Amino acid sequence: MVNYKDLGLVNTRAMFAKAVRGGYAIPAFNFNNMEQMQAIIMAAVETKSPVILQISKGARNYANQTLLRYMAEGAVAYAKELGCEHPEIVLHLDHGDSYELCKNCIEMGFSSVMIDGSALPYDENVALTKKVVEFAHQYDVTVEGELGVLAGVEDEVSAAESHYTKPEEVIDFVTKTGVDSLAISIGTSHGAYKFTPEQCTVDPKTGRLLPPPLAFDVLEAVEEKLPGFPIVLHGSSSVPQEDVDIINSNGGCLKAAVGIPEEQLRKASKSAVCKINIDSDSRLAMTAAIRKTMAEKPAEFDPRKYLGPARDRMKELYMHKIINVLGSNDQLIEG
Ligand SMILES: [Zn+2]
Repeated sequence: MVNYKDLGLVNTRAMFAKAVRGGYAIPAFNFNNMEQMQAIIMAAVETKSPVILQISKGARNYANQTLLRYMAEGAVAYAKELGCEHPEIVLHLDHGDSYELCKNCIEMGFSSVMIDGSALPYDENVALTKKVVEFAHQYDVTVEGELGVLAGVEDEVSAAESHYTKPEEVIDFVTKTGVDSLAISIGTSHGAYKFTPEQCTVDPKTGRLLPPPLAFDVLEAVEEKLPGFPIVLHGSSSVPQEDVDIINSNGGCLKAAVGIPEEQLRKASKSAVCKINIDSDSRLAMTAAIRKTMAEKPAEFDPRKYLGPARDRMKELYMHKIINVLGSNDQLIEG
């Protein structure tokens, strides 16, 4: 058993309480490899932001859970080396789908886990979530639960249709399970293809496609039921058109992809939403930079020469999200 505190990691409790009070949200960035992790830590250190490093089940399968765990431990040391005396880094399991997986991650040094029972009947979701919370809290590990279903495909997570969270269920769920935060469904979705052009309207000012707005009425109703309780948004990439264009003009073939407009995420960050998950935008940034380098320098075969620019572009993206969308810059508890 490895306790996350021995690795220099923190759980989400204090940072979420501060974020809800302060009207900003903590970034939760998924990572699968070294360049991504370096970019996340560099961005968090430069902006003095707390940060959540997320590992999905797919990432565990891809990169190996032991390696990822040591990378997270290394991330703390790296942040200190970059000049951050008291980094606030959470190692979080994204979309845990069983008690065993959550238990295993907690024993490996994770400081936070998500148990996603949202596809189960309500009572089974309650029972599974409660069981994970009881185990996790023995070690002061925080737990995220989910009510409502998000559409889209990302790693192992997939659902054809979304179902908004029912505000009338949230008090009962939180009370019965003891979860520390709750992911809700208000119209965000997983993956890069969140909306088809047919589902969007054209913004008369910019000519850009605008997806249907998030269900802020559902968010407000949840906040009314659970004042001050930490709320989480998954599937919150904005799918920057610039990166899609770079990919497509350098041999890529992405279909028209539309994400969540950043203004809407900015608005959500100011509410009880205190954790926003971003994965696809970083995938797009990385792919755009790699494709561009490969197209411009076809003789290049040193991976550092195309992964380096990819890392730079991801870092730029993470800093932009922290400063201009989530507002978590300069929010470390100990400065
Ligand atoms: Zn998710």
